[in-house]
Amino acid sequence: MMYKNHLLVSNAVAIPIMGFTDSLTVSSVVALSLGALLPDIDEPESFIGRRTRGLSDLLKIVFGHRGITHSLVFIVFVGLLIIPTASKIGFVSFGIWFTVGVFLHIFEDSFSNGGVNWLLPISEKTYHLPIYSTGSLIEFMIGMVALVWLVIGFKHQYFELKHDEVINIATMKNLLVEVKNMLSKVLLE
Ligand SMILES: [Zn+2]
Repeated sequence: MMYKNHLLVSNAVAIPIMGFTDSLTVSSVVALSLGALLPDIDEPESFIGRRTRGLSDLLKIVFGHRGITHSLVFIVFVGLLIIPTASKIGFVSFGIWFTVGVFLHIFEDSFSNGGVNWLLPISEKTYHLPIYSTGSLIEFMIGMVALVWLVIGFKHQYFELKHDEVINIATMKNLLVEVKNMLSKVLLE
């Protein structure tokens, strides 16, 4: 699935849940969207891969596209890394929605013809319920339905954006520095 459709579909699924759980804020939407982009960091030609050349090349060489960054283990890894880090600076929902974004990306890829190897590295079995192929008209239409649903939902106030508690650039920067420190600790140990 292309990144725009990952963003549309993930938001279309998660925003009503955010509304329902009283966590629909700008930072939740940003977190979800970043999470929904992350798994394709294993493809240098993807939206996020083009912005992380070097790392994305390396990930593709080592794991291949739709390898380990499209697995259950990766969701757990990301969750264990970001949820405690984000909570430490009072950003609990950021970590949670980021992790949900990663999950939704992989879930959405499961409906493509290529499918996903959910159980890597334990098993290479591909799980899928093929509905669309990447870049196809059907994928485009799925994205459009998600967009229309979001527009209708906001317009009719099925869900409403809440005022954010702590979002500002300094907090975001702290969060990224924390994640970087933890990551280097994990990788160097
Ligand atoms: Zn993907």
